[in-house]
Amino acid sequence: MDLNDRPGALNRIRPSLAKSILSRTSGFIAQAGFTHSLNPARNCTFGCTYCYVPTLRIQGGLRPEDWRDWGRFTTFKDNAASLLTGALRPHQIIYCSPLVDPYQPAETTRRLMPEVLEALIRRPPRVFVLQTRGTTIVQDMPLLKELAVRTRLRVSFSLTTDREEIRKLYEPHCAPLGKRLHTMETLREAGIDVFATLAPLLPCNPRTLARLALAATENDLIGDPLHVRLTKRLGATTRAEAFEVSRVRGHTEWHEPAFQRQVVETIREEAQAAGRRFGTGPAAFGWLAAE
Ligand code: SF4
Repeated sequence: MDLNDRPGALNRIRPSLAKSILSRTSGFIAQAGFTHSLNPARNCTFGCTYCYVPTLRIQGGLRPEDWRDWGRFTTFKDNAASLLTGALRPHQIIYCSPLVDPYQPAETTRRLMPEVLEALIRRPPRVFVLQTRGTTIVQDMPLLKELAVRTRLRVSFSLTTDREEIRKLYEPHCAPLGKRLHTMETLREAGIDVFATLAPLLPCNPRTLARLALAATENDLIGDPLHVRLTKRLGATTRAEAFEVSRVRGHTEWHEPAFQRQVVETIREEAQAAGRRFGTGPAAFGWLAAE
């Protein structure tokens, strides 16, 4: 699929009425300590070349149309807020979202997240984590600030590379690094607890990326190399489009476990030099779920 040839796809929204909104977690997210996941939509109009989600095929509530046409449309759960109001409980540790970016481009056309945040403010869970690379999150700042008073709110913001030409190749519909760093700074200044999530690690200068992430946050750094079947035999993995980009552009080492270990170690050194940790896998993502 040519991700630069998708007229209108970024805002193509299909309405739906979901039967449920919170799912009991399993696998990676459960190991990290989250009890529930919240998916406000199906399919994500960021359409990243490496996205793990469509490789789940029909697991996770996806439909064949989603994984066949990943990023070309999204299906919003229009009743997300009312379902959430009935499903929220004080003990829940919620991750939003393992299957879609809650601030995907389509969210600028039909605003679903304000209703979701209002429901959370009315019935706050124990911990609520927003995983995003969407700079439009700042539009919801008043609601985020209010929610942060009611629960342990964390924003896990994705930074994947320090190189703009790489960002354009692998995730052309995501904001440039500078805009993401500015968004993180804005959230921090507003008192929101922000983590930098270096995942997946795209071709980059690992020391530069680590220093940028350390400067943008006060927390430990979380990350993950691109998933490959050599080290992760089952479950979600890197989408074929990213392998093709890497092959054509000469970046295949970023899919090799030995090379990935060196990159992780380099970032860890930078974090340690700054008195902080850098971790990967469920243990590190568990820092987001901590009560
Ligand atoms: S933003 Fe996340 S969920 Fe959306 S396409 Fe990219 S990797 Fe997938």
